[in-house]
Amino acid sequence: MKRLVILGGGESGVGTALLAKEKGFEVFVSDKAVIKEKYKQVLIHHEIEWEEGFHTESKILNAGLIMKSPGIPDKAPLVKQIRANGIPVVSEIEFAAQFTKAIIIGITGSNGKTTTATLTYHILKQDLNVGLAGNIGDSFAKQILEKDYQNYVLEISSFQLDDIVHFKPHIAVITNITPDHLDRYDYKFENYIASKFRIVENQTKQDYLIYDADDLVIENWLNINPVQSTLLPFSLTRTIENGAYLKQENIIITIENNQIIMPTSNLALEGKHNIKNAMAASTVAHLLRIRKQTIRESLENFQGVEHRLEHVLKINKVQYINDSKATNVNATYYALESMETPTVWIVGGQDKGNNYEELFSFVNEKVKAIICLGVDNEKLLNTFGGMVDIIVETQFMSEAVKIAYKIAEAGDTVLLSPACASFDLFENYEDRGRQFKAAVRNL
Ligand code: ADP
Repeated sequence: MKRLVILGGGESGVGTALLAKEKGFEVFVSDKAVIKEKYKQVLIHHEIEWEEGFHTESKILNAGLIMKSPGIPDKAPLVKQIRANGIPVVSEIEFAAQFTKAIIIGITGSNGKTTTATLTYHILKQDLNVGLAGNIGDSFAKQILEKDYQNYVLEISSFQLDDIVHFKPHIAVITNITPDHLDRYDYKFENYIASKFRIVENQTKQDYLIYDADDLVIENWLNINPVQSTLLPFSLTRTIENGAYLKQENIIITIENNQIIMPTSNLALEGKHNIKNAMAASTVAHLLRIRKQTIRESLENFQGVEHRLEHVLKINKVQYINDSKATNVNATYYALESMETPTVWIVGGQDKGNNYEELFSFVNEKVKAIICLGVDNEKLLNTFGGMVDIIVETQFMSEAVKIAYKIAEAGDTVLLSPACASFDLFENYEDRGRQFKAAVRNL
């Protein structure tokens, strides 16, 4: 019996444990931190051996195969030791995919993964038997064990792609590539780009890559590193023969002479970035032969995803928007771009070496006041101090929202779009977003 050791007892770890046990592996789960109670109960119930708070090397280095949670970096001493011992390390998607014959749609990129994956799922589920997994919701492995869907939409991070071997989505999407998580890639952008492109490394001509052709990082990479996949680019700025483009406020998607035309005015989600996300999702749907009318209707009634430009409330004619998931500058760029009124902007948190320059023109044009919300706000105060009339700082969400309320006038927007990670003041971006919404509801 093959011994599979799983590092990390979270959603993907426990899901993998269940699938592996069913497939006859001897399974051991080891987590250096505390495992959540609900996951412990699952492990106990299924009689799967586990430990928490430490790693027992003797029970790990005797594995035939290791499944590593994407949160654990390669630099971790234990992982180095595992590799030095020559034990193969895989991610959940690699391990789980071998046990399904389903068509896999893999969606990666620096921003827009969740939105595009959720939107794609929303369209496909109208006509197909489909599951949504990866970094969202129930683990992929667990769904393969329990659900047996014929199609999966997977949201895939670069960390998941770092540990694949055979994994091959039939349809891959790269939404965009901007610098992020560079601490895990030796601070080399090239390494991070290469990691994202691993999504196509096992694809053949029969498989598809859908990507943003306006993204120079992607275009340049493809010029130097040609891929086997059939390419279906999308663009907001130029005509695309095979793929998607914008013509007079209409999205036009062509695949082998079969065309679908959709007016952007009917899209439920705002902002140029969401036109791109809609193009990517609809191209997937068109490829899988979803009815044109179904695609159009699904784009019109999609409710969006929590914490992504989420409209919270309108109070005294001021719109409050929660974009807590904007944890990098590029995401905030699109948030500010989509603002159509004077904006009170709440920004800040844990800086990832941000360069704010690309935001300057939007700030000059649209932002009337800035509220810095982080433990250390100095960089923001220095960067934007001269650009707006009002700039203040606080360490409390409730205070940030109260200040915003005082400053904003009828017709304005209050936007939380931090461009930073949340861990200095909050548990995570969800906690930050929820605190924002609670503070707004308390006004
Ligand atoms: P991810 O799952 O890749 O982090 P999300 O869909 O959760 O992406 O969105 C993260 C942030 O990026 C949000 O602030 C959202 O408004 C913004 N965003 C969404 N789609 C795009 C896109 N195509 N390009 C840039 N930013 C985007």
